[in-house]
Amino acid sequence: MRKVKYKGGLIMVSREDEPTYQCLNCYKPWWKDDLDFQPFLAYVECPSCGNRVRTITENSPLITK
Ligand SMILES: [Zn+2]
Repeated sequence: MRKVKYKGGLIMVSREDEPTYQCLNCYKPWWKDDLDFQPFLAYVECPSCGNRVRTITENSPLITK
């Protein structure tokens, strides 16, 4: 297990790869297989709070504070 810090908290994960999505509301990081990709929705919902998640890229990395 390792810790992944994000703005507002941290999570313990057993995986080694970096998260690829982050919620715009609660800032929780997510991995692709955590998320439910619905073709009829224009965006992907955060499994925790239902808000929109964004893709983490090199230019817009995980927000940790
Ligand atoms: Zn959220």
